[in-house]
Amino acid sequence: MERVFCPHTQEEDRSIEQHLRPHSLQDFIGQRKAKESLDIAITAAKMRGGALDHTLLYGPPGLGKTTLAYIIASERGVNIKVTSGPAITRPGDLAAILTNLREEDILFIDEIHRLSHQIEEVLYPAMEDFALDIVIGKGPGAKGLRLHLSPFMLVGATTRFALLSPPLRDRFGMVFKLDFYSPEDIASIVRRSAQILHIMIDDGGVEEISRRSRGTPRVANRILKRVRDYAEVRAGGKVSHEVVLEALKRLEIDDKGLDEADRKMLYAITQKFGGGPVGLDTIAACLSEETDTIMEIYEPYLLQLGLLERTPRGRVATSLAYEHLGLLRE
Ligand code: ADP
Repeated sequence: MERVFCPHTQEEDRSIEQHLRPHSLQDFIGQRKAKESLDIAITAAKMRGGALDHTLLYGPPGLGKTTLAYIIASERGVNIKVTSGPAITRPGDLAAILTNLREEDILFIDEIHRLSHQIEEVLYPAMEDFALDIVIGKGPGAKGLRLHLSPFMLVGATTRFALLSPPLRDRFGMVFKLDFYSPEDIASIVRRSAQILHIMIDDGGVEEISRRSRGTPRVANRILKRVRDYAEVRAGGKVSHEVVLEALKRLEIDDKGLDEADRKMLYAITQKFGGGPVGLDTIAACLSEETDTIMEIYEPYLLQLGLLERTPRGRVATSLAYEHLGLLRE
């Protein structure tokens, strides 16, 4: 079974994410800074009748990057073409996408840090001059040709800002970092989702879910769904605070919102490596996980809670981590 906390989209999310995605900036809860700046940029572009700068959204998965890209498209009343770094394997793939864009269309590239260098090279003139440089023929007789593209807006999303090459980063006119949501914002998201899905939930239930969703809307929605299933089977469909507590216990999500996998990581650092510092590769090997998964999924929230610290020599478990696990520091 996949982790409830894996903030990447899972099969079970697809059916409801469509329903739950807010369609306007007004319905988009939280992320005040990014929202306000986008609102100003969109309104100004409307007044001028001009295009919007290419925009980069970054932050941990499940915080609303894709949602914002769709919102920009709907606020602008334009089409959006959605793709991702790993899906574009050859320069020709990107060229085909770019030449099919119509004026003002939005091209959304998720996981943009995973584009190869060769493909980034195609993207630079497209972003700067709306041009596609192609080479015809081979060897000394090869000729360069410049094709004009319709002016489009690129929205890139990444969970790993540091992996983006500086020339690509520099070509974005607007860059927004999405942060974990406050429990209050997550509570509003849970209330909104419950209303859309016709789930009866009391205030205690909403608050409990918001505290334990690692500040991530996708996780909050997923827990809400699991809790609803539990309530339907065990509590006549009504989601009370007690039902939420019981369901979270079954999902092994603790009071800080950590699950079994998070705790395993903290146990490994504290018990096997004396609290650290320990290298990321060693932790990954010990948990049989990819280093990328640890960096993108486990770490950001543990760092945010102050349970983990990143030092030049490796990861260190803090006294808070010992306290949380009920362990004594040697
Ligand atoms: P990302 O692209 O960052 O991984 P998504 O945009 O796919 O995240 O968001 C995941 C889900 O969380 C969406 O389907 C949406 O229902 C919900 N969501 C994200 N941000 C918000 C928000 N600010 N308000 C309400 N729901 C949100």
